[in-house]
Amino acid sequence: MLVDLHTHTDASDGALKPCDLLRQAGDAGIALLSITDHDTVAAYRDLKQPSYVTPHLIPGIEFSTEWNGIGVHVLGLNIDPDSDAIRAGAASQQVARRERAERIGEKLERIGIPDALAGALAIAGPSVIGRPHFARFLVDTAIVRDTAQAFKKYLGAGKVGDVKQCWASLTQVIDWIRDGGGIAVLAHPGKYRLTPTKRLRLIENFRHLGGQGMEVISGRQDPLLTQTLAAAATTFNLLAACGSDFHRPDQRWAQLGMPLDLPAQCRPVWDAW
Ligand code: AMP
Ligand code: MN
Ligand code: MN
Ligand code: MN
Repeated sequence: MLVDLHTHTDASDGALKPCDLLRQAGDAGIALLSITDHDTVAAYRDLKQPSYVTPHLIPGIEFSTEWNGIGVHVLGLNIDPDSDAIRAGAASQQVARRERAERIGEKLERIGIPDALAGALAIAGPSVIGRPHFARFLVDTAIVRDTAQAFKKYLGAGKVGDVKQCWASLTQVIDWIRDGGGIAVLAHPGKYRLTPTKRLRLIENFRHLGGQGMEVISGRQDPLLTQTLAAAATTFNLLAACGSDFHRPDQRWAQLGMPLDLPAQCRPVWDAW
């Protein structure tokens, strides 16, 4: 059974409309899907799924937070998108995103790149603003040649546009998810700039604060990392999730319908709902 519990639409930084994502996921043979946009559940607003359509849709969200100075993401899976906790959490994170965008704009201005905030906001339109919209502005104005260079020079970890001190705490996002009826899942633990020891400390801390699951598979990844993460999930008694982190059709390492099979030792998160 194909399961993909981590995807993005144009409600945040993905390319597809929610209905198109749902259709393409069905065409790709996905049986169980979650749309997990950054700090918004807007995709679910207009998406009342007819019962005959595959895949089965699990409401989700991806919250941004910070742990020990590192930007960390937490998925809320099987949440109630209309709950007070999720509404309040998403609203507060969206204010934080807007304020962060202003700071990114100021910082870019200070190093000689004017109008980035207005440019990024225009590109984002009704979508929740994020660094990818600044990246597109930098590409469109020929300041960089592509998105990868935009992150490498201006927006990635440690660069001038990397502003993290705006997010709700890890405890807070875990509480929003729990209060919203969902399961808090540590997203892509292999993608942070952490040593293996620090990564284990993050996983342990996440568990201690009430987190219930972790992504053992995120897109195309090294089988050795999969084994390491599966072992950590077992050690800390965390449910296992898998997702492509799909954003757009041209990213070959994160495609709808790609195999995301969890190792046999894992307890899949969908067994818990
Ligand atoms: P934000 O949510 O505003 O902090 O932006 C983070 C998002 O930017 C991630 O979810 C990715 O979609 C995207 N992203 C992060 N790093 C890169 C990169 N090196 N190249 C392209 N996109 C990236
Ligand atoms: Mn993204
Ligand atoms: Mn993420
Ligand atoms: Mn994501």
